[in-house]
Amino acid sequence: MPQPSNPETRAQELRQLLSGYSYEYHVLDAPTVSDAVYDSLMGELKAIEAEHPEFITPDSPTQRVGSELLGGFQKVAHRSRMLSLNDVFDASEVEAWVVRMDKLLPGTKHEFFADIKMDGLACALIYEDGLLVQALTRGDSFVGEDVTNNVRTIANVPLRLRDDPSIAHLLVGRTEIRGEIVMLKKDFDALNKKQEAAGKPTFANPRNLAAGTIRQLDPKLVAERPLTFMAYDLIRDDPSEVPTNMAAYEAITHLGLRRNMQASVFDSLSGVMQFVHEWDEKRHELPFNTDGLVIKVNDRALFAKLGVVGKQPRAAVAYKYAAEQATTIVKDIVISIGRTGAATPVAVFDPVQVAGTTVQHASLHNADEIARKDIRIGDTVIIFKAGDIIPQVESVVMELRPKGAEVFNYEDALRAQYPELEFERRGDDVVYRVRGTSGDLILKRSVEYYASKGALDIDTMGEKNVVALVDAGLVRDIADIYSLTVQDLLKLDRFADISARKLVDAIQEKKTPPLEKFILGLGIRHVGSQTAIDLANRFESIPRLAGATLEQLEAVEGIGKVVAESILAWFADEDNAALLDKFESLGVKPRYEKHEGTLNGVSFVVTGTLDSMSRDDAAERIRAQGGIFQTSVGKDTKYLVAGGKVGASKLAKAQAYGTVVLDEDAFLKLLGEK
Ligand code: NAD
Repeated sequence: MPQPSNPETRAQELRQLLSGYSYEYHVLDAPTVSDAVYDSLMGELKAIEAEHPEFITPDSPTQRVGSELLGGFQKVAHRSRMLSLNDVFDASEVEAWVVRMDKLLPGTKHEFFADIKMDGLACALIYEDGLLVQALTRGDSFVGEDVTNNVRTIANVPLRLRDDPSIAHLLVGRTEIRGEIVMLKKDFDALNKKQEAAGKPTFANPRNLAAGTIRQLDPKLVAERPLTFMAYDLIRDDPSEVPTNMAAYEAITHLGLRRNMQASVFDSLSGVMQFVHEWDEKRHELPFNTDGLVIKVNDRALFAKLGVVGKQPRAAVAYKYAAEQATTIVKDIVISIGRTGAATPVAVFDPVQVAGTTVQHASLHNADEIARKDIRIGDTVIIFKAGDIIPQVESVVMELRPKGAEVFNYEDALRAQYPELEFERRGDDVVYRVRGTSGDLILKRSVEYYASKGALDIDTMGEKNVVALVDAGLVRDIADIYSLTVQDLLKLDRFADISARKLVDAIQEKKTPPLEKFILGLGIRHVGSQTAIDLANRFESIPRLAGATLEQLEAVEGIGKVVAESILAWFADEDNAALLDKFESLGVKPRYEKHEGTLNGVSFVVTGTLDSMSRDDAAERIRAQGGIFQTSVGKDTKYLVAGGKVGASKLAKAQAYGTVVLDEDAFLKLLGEK
C-alpha cells in the first residue's frame, strides 16, 4: 500500500499541477483537462490550505488570478483590480456565504443580484467622453494586455456609446464597461464547419477559441472570427453614480451594449435559489456556453464595504452547476462476487460529489480494464457520471501518483479477499469466475438461501422447487420469485392448484421481511445472521446500508476489514444495484424494528444440545430481546449457555474471559421463560 502524501506535499503537488493547467488554459488557450477536473483539484487544494494556512504560498493558484501575461501586447495597469469569484456548489454554500457577510455587517438586509455566468474571456472597455479608447484583458488582475485593435473588430462593441438623455452623464469622462468576450455556439459551429470543409483542424471549444483569438497579434485574423461582447459591469470614478448592480445593467443597455436580459434582483435567498434551479435546465438553451451563475450583493456601496479576500470580492460568488466530472483518490480496490460467479473489481474512493450525487465507489469491470487504465491504489483519478449513468473511472492523474503505488495484482487480491474460493478465466473471457460453478448453480443456491429458514423462511420453497423454477427460466434472480404467479407454476409438472397457490402465497407473505433477514437473504459473502443484525441496527434501511462508507462499515462492532470490503463490494456491483431496484419495484419493503429488551447488547454463546429448543431457536430468542448471539467465546462474551457438559478447553476459555457459564434452566430464567 503506497503511503498517502502528507498534506504539505500534496499541496505542493497540487499547486505545481494546477499552475501548469492554468498556464495551458490562460496563456496557451489550450487546456488539457476539463474545467470540472481543474475545479475539483482546486477544491482539494483550497481545503488543505484552509486547514493549514501555513502551507499557503504567494504563488499558489488559490491566490492568483489568471496567469502570466503574454508578450506582444502593451501592459496596462487596471484602475481597479479585475477579480475572480469564489465558487459555491449548492444551497448550503450559498447560505454559508450570506452568513459570512452577516458576520461582517450584522443586521444588514441584503438585496441580491443574479446573472448568468458566461464562459469566455474577461475584458474591460474604456470609454472617454463616450469614445472607445482602450480595451484590456484581465491579465493577472492588476495589469492587463492592451488588445484595443482586436476588440475594435468585434461587431457588437460600440466605438461610440449611444447618446441617450437618461444617461447623459455617463458620456462625460471615463466610463469603464467590463464584460466577457464569447463566441456564440452558432458562430462556433459555423466556423468549425468551414474549417472542416477546408480540410483544416476543428477547434475544441468556444471559450479557448475566443481567448486565443483576442490575443492574436494580427487584427485581420481576429476580424475573421465572429466574437461577441457581453457586458456585466459599469464603473465610474464616482461610484455613487451607479448605486446598484441592476442600475449598472440598465445603464449598459441604454449605452448600446449587449448584456443578459435575464439578470434579476431578489430580496431573499429563496428567490435566488429559485433562479438557480430555473437556469439549471434552461442554460443549455442559451446562445453561449455558461459555467453557472453569478450572485452579488446588489447595493454597490455595501459591495465595496465588504471588501476583497485574496483574489475574490466577499460580496459575490459564482454558483457552479453540478459537474459531471470530479477527481478523487482510490483508497482501495475490492472484489465482488456476482450471482453468476463473476468477480468484479470495485474502486473505493474518498467520497466525492459528481453530477449532484455522492460517489464513493465505481466498478472497474475487469482485470484488463484496470491494466489498460493503469489504476493503482493511492492514485488520484478522474471520475465521470453523465446523466443517470453509473459513475466510471475515466483516467488516472499520473502527475499525482504516490511513490510506491503498486500495480494491482488481481490474483493476489482474489486470494486475499476470498481465500476459500478458486477462480479461473475461461478461454478469452476477461472476467475471473468462481471455479467449478455454473451461473445456474450459484443462482439456485442463492434463491434457496434467500428462502431458507434462517433468512426469509418461505414455506415450501425448498431445493427441488427452486431447481425447477430456475431450470424453467421462471426465476433469473432472487427478486423474480415475487413476480411468480399461480399460472406460471401450473406450467410445471411439480405443481397443482393447491401447491401453486400455497407457494405464491408464502412468497407474497414475505414482502415486508425484517431488515436483518432480508440482508442475510441477499447472500453477501461473510455476512452471517449476527452481522446482518448488526448492520440492520446500525443502518436501519437498505439505502443507508448501500451508501455506507468503508469506515462506517468497519466501525460496526464485530465487522473487520474483510467483511466491510465484501459488503461494500456487494453494494457497488451494478447487478446488485439493479437487483435492489427490482425488489423495490416488486413492492418488497424490508422493515426495521429495533429489538430491545432485557438482554440489550449482552453476548451469548450456546454450546451442546438444549432440551427445550434448538440452537437456532435459542439464537432467535436471544436476539428478540436485544442480545447478541455469538458462535465462539471471546472477551466480550457475557454468558456461555451449556447444554450438557462443557468441554475442558471451552470452560478454560470462558474462565479466562470471565464469561459466566449458564445451564439450560438458568438460561430460561434469564429469558424470562421460567
Ligand atoms: P471565475 O470562474 O473565478 O469567474 C470570474 C469571472 O467570471 C470574471 O472575471 C468574469 O470575467 C466572469 N463572468 C462571466 N459572466 C459574468 C457575469 N455575469 N458577471 C460577472 N462576472 C462574469 O474565473 P477565473 O478566475 O477566470 O477562472 C477560473 C475558471 O477557469 C474556472 O472555471 C476554471 O475551471 C477555469 N480554468 C480551467 C483550467 C483548465 O485547465 N481547464 C485552468 C485554469 C482555469
